[in-house]
Amino acid sequence: AKDQGRNRYEYYTHELTLQVSQRFRLEGDLRHAIERRELYLVWQPQFSLASGELIGAECLLRWQHPEHGLVPPDEFIPLAEESDLILFIGDWVLCAAIAQMAGWQARVPSLKASINLSPRQLSAAGLSQRIRSLLEQYGVSPGRIQLELTESGLMESQAVNAWLGQEAASLGLLLSIDDFGTGYSSLSRLKTLPINQLKIDRSFVKDIPDDENDIAITRSIIGLARGLELEVVAEGVETAYQERFLREAGCDIAQGYYYSRPVSAAEFETRYLRSQKE
Ligand code: C2E
Ligand code: CA
Ligand code: CA
Ligand code: CA
Repeated sequence: AKDQGRNRYEYYTHELTLQVSQRFRLEGDLRHAIERRELYLVWQPQFSLASGELIGAECLLRWQHPEHGLVPPDEFIPLAEESDLILFIGDWVLCAAIAQMAGWQARVPSLKASINLSPRQLSAAGLSQRIRSLLEQYGVSPGRIQLELTESGLMESQAVNAWLGQEAASLGLLLSIDDFGTGYSSLSRLKTLPINQLKIDRSFVKDIPDDENDIAITRSIIGLARGLELEVVAEGVETAYQERFLREAGCDIAQGYYYSRPVSAAEFETRYLRSQKE
């Protein structure tokens, strides 16, 4: 038993060292990922539950690492958020997404692009000016851009509050609270934020209809959103049952594998924009 304990200890130490050095190397690689063109965006469509029409698409970041293959964003974004790296990556995403939107906007008159923002981007100087000049450069109107901030990120700092209070609204951008229900936003604060949308976190949607608590939570979030006159989106919709439940509960928009996984820009065009052009 003692030996076993030691082996286990050694195993863990080894793994820990590996993890630290691997993380370190991954961060180094990430620093070069933009210039090496290893980052790209995939797009996941969002549909109106009432009419079935395409409303928009969320862009999600991908990193094709030369040796490790596809690194999931849940792994490299938190890593990037530990340093200023997230600012460069976040800027690349904004630029790439707005440029893409410039090409798409004429083909679907109401198409919106949802872009995830890290709270560190909000507290950095110059975000508003940067967004303004990108929109100008590409001829995209601010109403086409739906910025997503996670509920936990929203509560993070004074700088985020200041940005939201003073700059976001004046830019005319749309703001969404992502992963709603998993953070700690106070309900009284919700109505003071310049947001237009709540996004119900996938963790509540995924066990519908099996989990009664999740059903109750989802219904409450939809009710809250309607009461505050906010648009409400469900993410992670995977089944016809979930779709029907959400529609009947009054949810506006759905996104999830039931409709489509996130796809490349080229595939998005073929699947969703071609027929609209003709
Ligand atoms: P998120 O913003 O909550 O994005 C939704 C995640 O759920 C995406 O994972 C998406 O692929 C996945 N998803 C969508 N529908 C379904 C479904 O029906 N079933 C299941 N099982 N999953 C579904 P992804 O692309 O791996 O992104 C993970 C997270 O990484 C995102 O969560 C977001 O927090 C972050 N992220 C991705 N791209 C960016 C970015 O450009 N900037 C920032 N700051 N964060 C990003
Ligand atoms: Ca999101
Ligand atoms: Ca989300
Ligand atoms: Ca989520």
